[in-house]
Amino acid sequence: MSLLDRHRAVMPTWMPVYYGDDALEIVSGSGRRVTDATGRTYLDFFGGVLTTMIGYDIAEISDAVRRQIGTGVAHTSTLYLIRQQVELAEKIARLSGIPDARVFFTNSGTEANETALLMATNVRRSNQILAIKNSYHGRSFGTMAITGHRTWSSSSLSPFTVNWLASADRLRGRMARLTDADVIDAAVDDLREVLATVTAGDVAALIAEPIQGVGGFVHGPDGLLGAYQKVLAENGILLIADEVQTGWGRTGDHFWGYEAHGVTPDLVTFAKGIGNGFALGGVVGRAPVMNAVPAISFSTFGGNPVSAAAGNAVLDYVLDHDLQGNARTVGAILLRGLRELSYDILAAVRGRGLMIGLEFVRPGTTEPDPAVTARVFDLCREGGLLVGKGGLHGNVLRLGPALTLTVEEAREGLAILAGAIAAADAELR
Ligand code: PLP
Repeated sequence: MSLLDRHRAVMPTWMPVYYGDDALEIVSGSGRRVTDATGRTYLDFFGGVLTTMIGYDIAEISDAVRRQIGTGVAHTSTLYLIRQQVELAEKIARLSGIPDARVFFTNSGTEANETALLMATNVRRSNQILAIKNSYHGRSFGTMAITGHRTWSSSSLSPFTVNWLASADRLRGRMARLTDADVIDAAVDDLREVLATVTAGDVAALIAEPIQGVGGFVHGPDGLLGAYQKVLAENGILLIADEVQTGWGRTGDHFWGYEAHGVTPDLVTFAKGIGNGFALGGVVGRAPVMNAVPAISFSTFGGNPVSAAAGNAVLDYVLDHDLQGNARTVGAILLRGLRELSYDILAAVRGRGLMIGLEFVRPGTTEPDPAVTARVFDLCREGGLLVGKGGLHGNVLRLGPALTLTVEEAREGLAILAGAIAAADAELR
C-alpha cells in the first residue's frame, strides 16, 4: 500500500492530504529547498505553511534545539521555572510595543486564539465576538466559530455570538473595485451598522488578521484596523490581531502586520514561523486583559523548553540578520516581477513583503477559476517550485517563502511561476 493509501486508511476523512492524489512526501530540507522521497529537490516558496520562517537545517536553530535536548529536555510543564520561556517572553513583550505586556505560550495558533478569546470574553463579561468574513483562526470549537470560510468551518454551534464584518476583497463582494479611502469608509460604516443592528451592545472583541492568510492573502488598505479601533474604543470593545501568518517581519515594512494600521491591539496572537517547525504559539497583550482569567490555567507543553529554545534562536536570527529588511527587499522584487505579468487569467497580484497572493479568474471576468489555479500550481511543481493554494474559492496561489529567501532564489522562482502562468494561459487558447 502506498503511503497515501495508508494515510487515507487511518486518518479521518476530514483530514485529507490537502494537495491531493500525487502529494509529495518531503523527507529532507536545506536552506529554502526540500527533497522528496524520490530524491527530487524543489525550491519551497511556501515555507511549509509559512512555518519554516528561517529555512531548513539552519545551524543556529538546530544547534539551539540540540543543546536543549542535550539537557535531557530539562523538564516540561510549568511547575518549575523555564529560563528559555521567560527569556522568549521578555523579547516578545518588548517587540510588541504594548506597555506592561504579558505573554502566554501555547502549542499552536488555534490555542493562541482560544486563549485570546478566553481572556477577552472574561474581561468584558460578554461572549459576543466580531469576526471578518473570509477569515481563518483555527480548528477548535471556538476558533472554527469565528472562522468566516465555509471550507474550514464546520461549526454552526458556537460558544460565542458571532457577528460578521465584510472582508476587504477588492475583486468581489461589497468592497469590489473600491478605492483605499472608500474601503475604509465602507468598513467603518459596516462596523457601525453591525454594532447598532445585530449586537446587544456589549461586544467583547473584534478579531482580525492584518492579511487574511488561508483566505487568499486578502488585505485592506493601511489604516483600516486603526479606523476600526476608533469605533471599538468608543464602545469599549477589544481588538485582537491574529498575527499567526503576518508576524516577525514577514510583511517587510513592519515587524507586525498591525503596525501598517497605526494601532496597538489589546491582544496579539502568534504561532507558525516563531518555532521554525517546532510547535510554538502564544498571546501577547495588555496586562489588565491578559490577567483576566479567573482561574489558574497552565499548558503542559505550551512554551516547553525545546520549543522555547527554538523560538529564542528564531527570534535572534530574525533580528540579527534583519530578515524584515530582507522580506522588504526580496518581496519587492517578487511583487514587481509578478505585477509585470499581464494575462487575462491573472486578476490580482497582492500582498506585502514575502506574503504574496495571485488570484486566477476566467478570462474577461472576475469569476474565480480554481481549475486554472490548480494547473498553474501543478506546472510550478513540474518546474521544481512549491507554492501554496487557497482563498475562499480555491483560486489563489500563495507565496510565503522563508524570510531568508535570496534575490537569486526569488528570480529563479519568479521565472518558474511566469513560465507556468504563460503555459496555463496558452492552454486555454
Ligand atoms: N490563525 C491563522 C491566521 C492561521 O493561518 C492559522 C493556521 O493556518 C491559525 C490561526 C491556526 O494555527 P494552528 O494551525 O497552528 O492551530
